Amino acid sequence: MHAELSPGLYIVATPIGNLGDLSPRAADILSRADVIAVEDSRVTAGLLRHIGIKRPMTPYHDHNADQVRPGLIERMARQVVALVSDAGTPLISDPGFKLVRDARAAGHLVVTIPGPCAAIAALTLAGLPTDRFFFLGFLPAKSGARAEAIREVAGIRATLILYESGPRLAACLTALAEGLGDREAAVAREISKKFEECVTGTLVQLAERYADAPPKGEIVVIVGPPADAPPPAIEDADAALAEAMTRLPASKAAGEVAKRFGLDRRELYARAMALKGESDA
Ligand code: SAM
Repeated sequence: MHAELSPGLYIVATPIGNLGDLSPRAADILSRADVIAVEDSRVTAGLLRHIGIKRPMTPYHDHNADQVRPGLIERMARQVVALVSDAGTPLISDPGFKLVRDARAAGHLVVTIPGPCAAIAALTLAGLPTDRFFFLGFLPAKSGARAEAIREVAGIRATLILYESGPRLAACLTALAEGLGDREAAVAREISKKFEECVTGTLVQLAERYADAPPKGEIVVIVGPPADAPPPAIEDADAALAEAMTRLPASKAAGEVAKRFGLDRRELYARAMALKGESDA
């Protein structure tokens, strides 16, 4: 016998391919929900069939969310409302953030039942740095807007994660190579399904590979961070120090510039004093 669930919003992650990845807790919450907000009831019906339950579903997707949301928020005061998407973690390139925002604003309980997410699963497969990563979702389909979106992230010192479709993959990889340089990358496809694969190479190599053979299925592209920047030139640090000393005492200026350039604070303080001596002379 389970304790009764408190009313509120339950964000339930579902499998991205392999139904065996539905967690026991996710199945338990779904089986006890008063209503499940779904993107596509046919998709979620399949999942519910897999765990042998039937629950009321209500559509919640990009086209009806604004109309449906107030009713769902109202129900959360007295009922268990579960939110799922067709696959993976709701809200991640899927509807839901406004539902969570409004549920919080109304003072309702908000609980997440974590589970599969294609972006994170792909990151674990790629063999690229995982200490800092930046999720881009889907890039714009039009080439101009896509190039602009890529330019915006070119300077970010992190691994990039993006969702893409098979027919657009080669053009996307080429645009990434043009905008970011030929970085190390990976194409993760059909994760947790029969034809799962993760192909690694540079962006140019991968673009060539897929140019005449657009892959089938669902895809995540992972792009490694930019190569290490050269160490800052000491002249740059001196210029920054001179500027900082117009605003700050020498010790504070040295601290600020040391932090920004990753240099030794005491060494910079000595340079600051030398610069001060030169300007006082
Ligand atoms: N909310 C989902 C999540 O947590 O990953 C993502 C939803 S988004 C609308 C769907 C995209 O996720 C697909 O177009 C594909 O890029 C990626 N994706 C979903 N399942 C995948 C899988 N099994 N293998 C690779 N990519 C997948």
